[in-house]
Amino acid sequence: MKPIQSELKAWMDKNENFKTNYTRIKNEILSDPSVKAFLRDHPELTDHDIEKNLMRLYEYKSQSKQCDRCASFGECQNLMQGYSPVLSMDKNEIRLSYEKCHSRIQVEEQEAQQKLFQSLYMPKEILEAKMSEVIQDNSRISAIGEIISFLEEAKSGLPKKGLYLHGSFGIGKTYLLGAIANELKKRNYSTTLIYMPEFVREIKGSFKDDSFNEKIDFFKKADVLMLDDIGAELQSAWFRDEVLGSVLQYRMMEGLPVFFSSNFDLNELEKELASTRNGVEEVKAGRIIERIKQVSSVVKMSGKNRRDE
Ligand code: ADP
Ligand code: MG
Repeated sequence: MKPIQSELKAWMDKNENFKTNYTRIKNEILSDPSVKAFLRDHPELTDHDIEKNLMRLYEYKSQSKQCDRCASFGECQNLMQGYSPVLSMDKNEIRLSYEKCHSRIQVEEQEAQQKLFQSLYMPKEILEAKMSEVIQDNSRISAIGEIISFLEEAKSGLPKKGLYLHGSFGIGKTYLLGAIANELKKRNYSTTLIYMPEFVREIKGSFKDDSFNEKIDFFKKADVLMLDDIGAELQSAWFRDEVLGSVLQYRMMEGLPVFFSSNFDLNELEKELASTRNGVEEVKAGRIIERIKQVSSVVKMSGKNRRDE
């Protein structure tokens, strides 16, 4: 059998058309500025080496390098979206590999930041709440003061206590929680904000399946946990003691802050927590209140109901 190279040569000689095309493409590849620069850096490459690696050089030439031909990540035209080709030498072989391009790195960083504020069952206005848009009237002064010192302290490490914001319905407690979470995101802290009735539903729903411990862990370990609207939904003694109690206990031991919003002050909340379907259990309710005090500072808010604006 004839060697394949000479077979190919014979075939090419017979096919003038192919040969001209081949030569044209080869010239195009070799005159590409990025290929030229690589070959200039590697004078050791012989014509034979170049011929042998022409496909790689062609692929290199055809791909956008570090976004030089793409307007945005979404418009990336490369074989592997967001990856840029790199030529290198590996024992006299030309190697073509791919590395993440600037846009991909930027998009991944943004996605990672986004994940830092996990909220469950929260409306969009809360997800987008901004500290800079919080209206600073007298009724919020003390809450805002506390929040500002928390955020200041968070610059050098996560404070051990969050806030227990209480006051009547519609005065902006949940909105403030969203705004704090967005500030914490900028400092790379992960926040989990959940509406209490949904928290109860979520945990009860997974009680018998494998995700139960995983979910509890998620609430135990988030940098910052925010429990929105804690109060009347806690008629289950099991949830109060085994779920809420154990999450708060863990966070208290680890010095991880918790934020709460509630229509109840701590005395009223204690009464709510005491009366479950099991009857009145003051000691157990008192234990939860103690833990709440360990993981947060109490702030009373007042003001008008903003829901109808
Ligand atoms: P609460 O949790 O105290 O019941 P919310 O946080 O749900 O009250 O606020 C009630 C309404 O007022 C919501 O629609 C919220 O988006 C709006 N709101 C509250 N505070 C602000 C604020 N500082 N700036 C703009 N809108 C606000
Ligand atoms: Mg609320």
